[in-house]
Amino acid sequence: MNEKNKAEAERRAKLLKMRAERLPDIKKAFEENQKRNFNANFAPGGKDEKLVRHKTAAKTAATKTVKKAATPASKKATTAKKSNTSRNSKATKQAASNTDKKRDVSLLVSTRKGEMVHHQRMLSQDVNAQATQHIIGIPVNKSRYNGYNGQQVTMAQIKQARQHRDAVRIIPIGGLGEFGIGKNMTAIEYQGEIVLIDMGTLFASEDYPGVNYMVPDSKWLDDNRDKVKAILFTHAHLDHIGACRHLLPYFGPLVPIYGTAFTIGMIKKQMSELSDIPDMNYHEVEPLKHENIKLSEHLSAEFIHTLHSIPGNTSIVIRTPNGNILLSGDWRFENNPMDTPADYDRMLEIRDKEGYALLLNESTNIDSPGTHPHSEWDVGENMGRVMDHYANGRVIISCFSSQVKRIELVLKEAAARGRKVAFAGYSMINNVEVALRARSIKVPKDTIMKMEDIIKLPDEKVTIVCTGSQGEMNAVLNRMVSGSHRYIKIKATDTIVFSSNPIPGNEPKVVGTVGGLLREGAQVIQNGKTHLTNIGPLHLSGHAYFEDHVKFVTDMQPKNYMPYHGEFYMLQHNAEMAENVVGIPKDRIIVADDGDIVELMPDQTIHKNGRIHVGNKLYDDADQQVNEAVVKDRIHISREGIFVVILTLSKKTGRLIKTPDIVSRAFIYLDNSEELIGKIRHYLRAKTDHTVSTDEDVRALKEEIKEDVTHILFDATGHTPIVIPVINKV
Ligand SMILES: [Zn+2]
Ligand SMILES: [Zn+2]
Repeated sequence: MNEKNKAEAERRAKLLKMRAERLPDIKKAFEENQKRNFNANFAPGGKDEKLVRHKTAAKTAATKTVKKAATPASKKATTAKKSNTSRNSKATKQAASNTDKKRDVSLLVSTRKGEMVHHQRMLSQDVNAQATQHIIGIPVNKSRYNGYNGQQVTMAQIKQARQHRDAVRIIPIGGLGEFGIGKNMTAIEYQGEIVLIDMGTLFASEDYPGVNYMVPDSKWLDDNRDKVKAILFTHAHLDHIGACRHLLPYFGPLVPIYGTAFTIGMIKKQMSELSDIPDMNYHEVEPLKHENIKLSEHLSAEFIHTLHSIPGNTSIVIRTPNGNILLSGDWRFENNPMDTPADYDRMLEIRDKEGYALLLNESTNIDSPGTHPHSEWDVGENMGRVMDHYANGRVIISCFSSQVKRIELVLKEAAARGRKVAFAGYSMINNVEVALRARSIKVPKDTIMKMEDIIKLPDEKVTIVCTGSQGEMNAVLNRMVSGSHRYIKIKATDTIVFSSNPIPGNEPKVVGTVGGLLREGAQVIQNGKTHLTNIGPLHLSGHAYFEDHVKFVTDMQPKNYMPYHGEFYMLQHNAEMAENVVGIPKDRIIVADDGDIVELMPDQTIHKNGRIHVGNKLYDDADQQVNEAVVKDRIHISREGIFVVILTLSKKTGRLIKTPDIVSRAFIYLDNSEELIGKIRHYLRAKTDHTVSTDEDVRALKEEIKEDVTHILFDATGHTPIVIPVINKV
């Protein structure tokens, strides 16, 4: 054992030495990169100092870009035909090796049935993998922090797990190891008392056709609903409150709901959109009061004011009989914040007086080196620079709708230049309303205008703040590009600012929107591309960077550590940071998945002990639930299409009385496929060349037709669409 400890200590010392050697270089490179973002060129003495005031110079620069961007590129429209002809040529092979015969009807196919079955099996595997990536039975987790010494936990181990009576159980219901950031929800349980923290949504990727977002689903929670004593919210981002309208109504007016004024305002707004608004028990918390809120017989909570990219943001301390659990929520450090500075002192005070038995720390930006080099104020100043630099046209700023503090800065900069501001996008208008009501922002007089009024002003007076910075297809910005927005159509004198970074996965969409804007001749200024425009930074991430995490975890001195709020690689990197840099022993760090039960014991040790069932509910953009089978059908159809054959049989004779109707959707274009269709009609006629009388006969006939037609289609095209035989008797 001593040997092992020694080896561990050596390993860590080596890593720390490597880090100490490299850190100055990493920091230097990072800072240099950021300096470029700091408009050195615009500063007094900089080479572009004059550009800020000389608008003519700015104008020529703009026109140059316009010319470059306006090169048209219209092509497309031969590929579809091509694929059809190739499918048909395959049909002409028609070798007559009739290996598969049923009722003596020749299918005239050259492929073996086994090939078709193989294709179907592969397809169904692909469809299942795509549609069920979120379903977690026992997730693969052989991380060194997996709670089982790097060994994969087995079903038998999970079944054997017996709950310790005195353990505080921490159960992530969503948000850990997801495919994306979202669906955050954590349960803390002690002797039959449950406290829930956050109820978020996760936006579905294109892998889920027709699905807009997902909501945490837990049978365990359904079974234990009566034990829930309180529901707490860290802040009002959708990945923390998005599922409220689906989950909160189940708990009814007896369960108290706690959050800051802005967070509760946003939840109420969301609930007010339900057709049947439930009666809920809301409590607004004022974190700076340091109130210890009693939640149940054994559990209490204190909200701590922290900083993020939204007002009313908090961390939460849950006081339990086995020690304090600190849930970081989402956070960032800020030297010179717009908001009240974070109540870091209170966190340290609790550390000193009570200590933290467990820290759950978010993992979003663990892969970003260094620390935040600038403040939200710099972002605001740069918005002002954009307005100076492009003073003759409209300035359209797109950012996350929850960035209300940044919106406050835009208003200030616009007001200082005699510009007016209008908001576009449902969520944008909503959030500004809630922020005003919760007194989270201050607004200069006579600056905000309605969209229908602002468009009557000259362009140089117009500033628009809108959604769509992630390239969302139906958001305002894209509608302005396509000309389908009611008031604004992009023109060459417009300047569009992307005051955000693309969320991983959204890059292609953002690129599409930027391309569309450039085609209209507009000037586009994106955060992170300062070298193109000399203006930036235009965004400040809401999440701590690597060095911030090092400082935070070092300062909090938690006995045990559990990364949360992240994809699996983020959780793992966060855990590695805690072990290798901060020095928390490996056996006090847990990398868990949704559904894992983590137990904090009276002696303040920590371990995993079993699992609960967790999953997902899928919703479309009309807030209607989508069944997983429907998603699978959609994926199947999108890949292979649908093929319907309609047979009309005589009630008397049971024989075909008219030519079978054939409908093909998302598969082959019928007009180009006469030969194949002729072959299928021929087959159908031969197949119904005998009397079908009983229902049993009809059912059997349908099955055979389904199988045979699939085979003929596969033989001709290499695809197995969903074949639906319909038999009418008249
Ligand atoms: Zn957040
Ligand atoms: Zn979050």
